[in-house]
Amino acid sequence: MTQVLELKIGWLYPTLMSTYGDRGNVIAIQQRAQWRGINVEVIPYDRDSDPDLIHQVDIMAGGGAQDRQQEIVMRDLAGAKAAAIKAKLDAGAPGVFTCGSPQLLGKFYEPGLGEKIEGMNIIDLETKHPGIDTQRCIGNVVFEITAKRLAAELTELLGGQKPLIVGFENHGGRTFLGPNAEALGKVIKGYGNNATDGTEGAFYHNAIATYSHGPLIPKNPFIADWMIKTALQNKYQTEIDLAPLDDSLADRARAAMLKRLEIN
Ligand code: GLN
Repeated sequence: MTQVLELKIGWLYPTLMSTYGDRGNVIAIQQRAQWRGINVEVIPYDRDSDPDLIHQVDIMAGGGAQDRQQEIVMRDLAGAKAAAIKAKLDAGAPGVFTCGSPQLLGKFYEPGLGEKIEGMNIIDLETKHPGIDTQRCIGNVVFEITAKRLAAELTELLGGQKPLIVGFENHGGRTFLGPNAEALGKVIKGYGNNATDGTEGAFYHNAIATYSHGPLIPKNPFIADWMIKTALQNKYQTEIDLAPLDDSLADRARAAMLKRLEIN
């Protein structure tokens, strides 16, 4: 009898950090694991959570939010929770952090209005909002994964295809990577981190930080498979091969978007 695998998804601040539909990432990871017979538990990590609760999860997901909610979340994260999340990521837990979340993983976020928000200082990046009268970075985004190890692992998962991400961004903050940060990807269409240096997101151990909503994973389901595989290999300390799923619908949606954006 084969062992039934278990997967625990830590969902960071589900109510405060879900303004842009990033709950779709949690749903997609959960469903793609369940379709393979994996038992999944989604565990909210919120203001009433014990900091060490994060050590019970195998995967993390954090969504986007408006500046005000980010300030509330960061006040709660500062200290024990930030340290616990850093320890978990440093130990190789995969995570997907969208927009407002990666801004808080960095050194600080200077919002369009209000005080500078000190971040968790996990990833060497900083974000500054240029002011509420400045045009926001809103629109479809396409980028190629360039983070070395992730690109190689995704290319293998994709049977040799280049890992292209199709998504949607909506942010005022402009993020700049420091010398110790690795960009997640290079922008092909859209703004990315700051609409000037062509980078998008950041990659830290197995944490994916990106401005791409979409939500990201339903439009790029191979990201979920990489996260599930990585989490289960960490947990069970053995090679995990996930059964293929029928992604024809997602593939057609991606193709339609790439065609509309005139990207071959
Ligand atoms: N409030 C942040 C900004 O405007 C993050 C937005 C988001 O999470 N989409 O940059």
